[in-house]
Amino acid sequence: LLLFSIVALSHAQLKKHLDKKLSIEDRVSFLMKEMTIEEKVGQMNQYNGTWDFTGPRPESGSEELKYEHLKQGWVGSMLSVRGVKEVLAVQKIAVEETRLGIPLIFGFDVIHGYKTLSPIPLAEAASWDLEAIKKSASIAADEASASGLNWTFGPNVDISNDARWGRVMEGAGEDPYLGSKIAIARVKGFQGEKLDANNTIAACAKHFAAYGFVEAGREYNGVDMSISKLYNTVLPSFKATVDAGVRTFMNSFNILNGVPATGNSYLQRDILKGDWEFNGFVVSDWASIGEMITHGYAVDGADASAKAVEAGSDMDMESHLYVTELVKLVKNGTVKESLVDDAVRRILRVKFELGLFDDPYKYCDENREKKTIGNKANNEAVLDMAKKSIVLLKNEGNLLPLKKSGIKIALIGALASDKNSPLGSWRIAADDDTAVSVLEGMQKYKSNKLVYEKGTDVSTDKQLFVQEVKINYTDFSGFEAAKKVAKEADVVIMVLGEIGFQSGEGRSRTELGLPGNQQQLLEEVHEVNPNIVLVLNNGRPLSIPWAAENVPAIVEAWQLGTQTGNAVAEVLYGDYNPSGKLPMSFPRNVGQCPIYYNSYNTGRPTNKDNNVFWSHYIDAEKSPLYSFGYGLSYTTFEYKNLKINNLNPKKGEVISISVEVTNTGNFDGKEVVQLYLNDEVASIVRPVKELKGFELITLKKGETKKVVFKLTDKEMGFYNNEGAFNVEEGVFNIMVGGNSIEGLTSKFELK
Ligand code: BGC
Repeated sequence: LLLFSIVALSHAQLKKHLDKKLSIEDRVSFLMKEMTIEEKVGQMNQYNGTWDFTGPRPESGSEELKYEHLKQGWVGSMLSVRGVKEVLAVQKIAVEETRLGIPLIFGFDVIHGYKTLSPIPLAEAASWDLEAIKKSASIAADEASASGLNWTFGPNVDISNDARWGRVMEGAGEDPYLGSKIAIARVKGFQGEKLDANNTIAACAKHFAAYGFVEAGREYNGVDMSISKLYNTVLPSFKATVDAGVRTFMNSFNILNGVPATGNSYLQRDILKGDWEFNGFVVSDWASIGEMITHGYAVDGADASAKAVEAGSDMDMESHLYVTELVKLVKNGTVKESLVDDAVRRILRVKFELGLFDDPYKYCDENREKKTIGNKANNEAVLDMAKKSIVLLKNEGNLLPLKKSGIKIALIGALASDKNSPLGSWRIAADDDTAVSVLEGMQKYKSNKLVYEKGTDVSTDKQLFVQEVKINYTDFSGFEAAKKVAKEADVVIMVLGEIGFQSGEGRSRTELGLPGNQQQLLEEVHEVNPNIVLVLNNGRPLSIPWAAENVPAIVEAWQLGTQTGNAVAEVLYGDYNPSGKLPMSFPRNVGQCPIYYNSYNTGRPTNKDNNVFWSHYIDAEKSPLYSFGYGLSYTTFEYKNLKINNLNPKKGEVISISVEVTNTGNFDGKEVVQLYLNDEVASIVRPVKELKGFELITLKKGETKKVVFKLTDKEMGFYNNEGAFNVEEGVFNIMVGGNSIEGLTSKFELK
């Protein structure tokens, strides 16, 4: 009887963490008391799911090892396992076959939708529509969670101003203010109101930090950056996600000022977990703990593990180093067990918050999976997002919108019939060729005569997900047919740009023009018919100076996801009036990169009449081709009556700035009203201007609306080189307008 009671007692103790009435912190503590050091380290280990979990169990190689580790309870998380059947099979191993039955957390790159794809994140950012962006993330969460997942490796909140870097497609562009607002919208969209609902997933702010500033835009390169730049430009979007309650962070591949982000205690311990009091967990980037050896920062796997855990990397994604090294390191006294405990507490906390201990199979409902993924409502939502993401760059002579009947249209470009490229990079769960192509979208408007010719292939390769994308420079065989249809048409629509995998991870480029033969095709078609609407498909800013000069209409359509063709057609035909604004500057040529609106004044006059040694290039303009915040509409807007309520405010006071905007054109439309600020003289040099407010307004033809911005110390201050926040007295110049270049200006003096 005594023995029985002892067993029963310890069993009850063992299960105490399952008592929902206790606080999460207590539940974590009870569970951790039961855990061996091996089981603790196991929670810090994340494996890629590489085999069919519903099939026979692997009997050899690394898959067998992973399976063995799963059964031992030496795995805390799996990535890239997807689908209810698969997730269920793996979760069952963790819950039913391990000693403590701790559920796994399933991570996945849900970057711009799961199966029903939204526009790539950079495109969404062009909408400046925070509600729509939040909705888009919530649809992604709904589909991913219906597929068994509970954690996305997103949002990517890396600010970047270098179009050479392929991963700009995953972020929100060059501006920390806009980037922070979008970061918040995405976190809220993914995580919803309640993290333990079965249709929300934990978000992950990545890549911490400064990955968007890899030197020369070359992927995985190093970053050297001042502390003030780090604080003012890179960190705000991350801090915003912490304030919005993001539950996880991912560190990054790059070094920052000599220290790999993964081994960077200043970033992860001092700033993130210290100053910002973040109590979720940090996952490494893919094998980035091991990469510290190749960086030349750690001698071997043991050293790398010790450095990573000490610096605050809580979970090892696919380096396989924590699971092999950490137990030994704790036992031989190299790594303090308290560091492991801290990491495990963070990981378990998030698992409890997700409700995984209360029901580890809550995301595994096959009926819901069937009903949710790809449903009509989700397709409607991504179509809406796609239309909002389109930016009208040029519309000379009002070539757009197209007449709905009585005209002959020639549609040209391989990308126009491409059903794959518009899906963009990072769409692992989506099936290939599932986008509505521009051709299909245009075909729905039946009253015009539409003919299609591809003209030239962009790529010579059908296999898209390759590191070296093979571009077609030699096959011109389709040119003549394209020119023929162009000649006979009233309007030529040319869909040109990048294929889907020319941007994304590992896709740095040294040329930013139209790839392959496309520029030549454009020029030759232009010779036979200059009435061209250029529709751009791309994952990054392109430099298209010739088109900007010679082509009358240009529509930036990025990679818009599943509903691409429908969105483009509605915009071209004027059923949707575009209102997007660029979240990133478009360079005139690669030599201008990095180019961004919020740069510093030099010590040289800005006007060449004053001094031949002004800061400029001798072979190109210094301004961008299209600047941040720029975008047209089918209607026009006029700004007037810029007013500041107090021209001599004191620190701490809220300043109101108002402006009236009138729709002066012939269409109802939307405008993004933008407020820029410049701190004229400060203890460290401040940018020429910085976005500090924006509002998306809808105006009917002839309608006027007053927009009021509130400025506080938060917008007026900046971080110095010690990382301290300062608000300094003096003159502040303001500009309000529809882009970052021109607008109404005024100033006030902060006392
Ligand atoms: C990327 C991450 C991604 C991870 C998992 C890495 O290569 O840098 O952004 O989440 O892979 O797929």
